[in-house]
Amino acid sequence: MIIILKKGTPEIEINRTIQEITTTLPVKAEKVVGRHQVIIGMIGETSSLDPLLIQEVSPWIEQVLRVEKPFKRASREYRYGQESEVIVSTPNGDVKFGEAHPVVLIAGPCSVESEEMIVETAKRVKAAGAKFLRGGAYKPRTSPYSFQGHGESALGMLWAAREATGLGIITEVMDSTDVERVADVADILQVGARNMQNFSLLKKVGAQNKPVLLKRGISATINDWLMAAEYILVSGNPNVILCERGIRTFDRQYTRNTLDLSAVPVLRSLTHLPIMVDPSHGTGKSSFVPVMAKAAIAVGADSLMIEVHPNPAQALSDGPQSLTLEQFDRLSHELEGMCQVVDRVQPTLAILA
Ligand code: PEP
Ligand code: MN
Repeated sequence: MIIILKKGTPEIEINRTIQEITTTLPVKAEKVVGRHQVIIGMIGETSSLDPLLIQEVSPWIEQVLRVEKPFKRASREYRYGQESEVIVSTPNGDVKFGEAHPVVLIAGPCSVESEEMIVETAKRVKAAGAKFLRGGAYKPRTSPYSFQGHGESALGMLWAAREATGLGIITEVMDSTDVERVADVADILQVGARNMQNFSLLKKVGAQNKPVLLKRGISATINDWLMAAEYILVSGNPNVILCERGIRTFDRQYTRNTLDLSAVPVLRSLTHLPIMVDPSHGTGKSSFVPVMAKAAIAVGADSLMIEVHPNPAQALSDGPQSLTLEQFDRLSHELEGMCQVVDRVQPTLAILA
């Protein structure tokens, strides 16, 4: 349930209302500051509550609405239709993810292979317009015989790239016991597709301060995915970005996964959270990446994650889907044109239940 307060409600009245609600009703209440209005979100046993009685708590209450979706905090209704933003401070300044902001580019290799390659890649993707460097230290590989990532030493290499370029760092955390170690280096923690429903990991990343990039599980429905985001939100971390990276379908002959671009407008209608698309894992083939990246912008993605490698043929993981540095540079220019074609700073207001 949400309480929409009138514009200009005094702070003291907001706090009094929250206080009264939490002491008299079986719910937790939290303040959600939207662009236009303050909303009080109520989570708990709300089904038996009468909106009209809650309305009487304060003359500053404009409306009391039920949130029908099972994912409460992640739902767009919870913010009365307004999008949220995730602001990440990097050495080069704040980078904002969300519907009202420019598209954010994230680029880098699948795995961090050496300090030299990651620093070189960071410099080149920065020059091409990327705001974040990606690179795996801990790799979730299908085969235990495949390269598993350099682990902790790769975190040091990412730090060197951060210091050399000022780019923000996105890297995956696979295990709850590594969260602190990864969060010391990463500006955004990635929870990979295979861990989307690792609930203890979700709770752990939800209980720390760094923003979280939550990739869609290989066979996850949109509801599964938003419920996974809800775990992070309910654990106290409001900074969640969703990343569509392709799902498993019956046909894997020509693409590694099926990039579900329709998920972008669907998510936009269901959630306030920023949306990213990863066409690299989505297609598995570098030749398909540029066109799907452009398509992702056309459907309204707020951000793109692209795998880039100085020498894809020699990559220790995901070489076939990695762009060269030159190809990424070219794509980045093309994306600028695409952003101009589609007016992406138009907030899509959700239909409220
Ligand atoms: C990755 O980003 O390198 C990765 C392993 O992604 P996913 O979890 O989407 O497979
Ligand atoms: Mn990869």
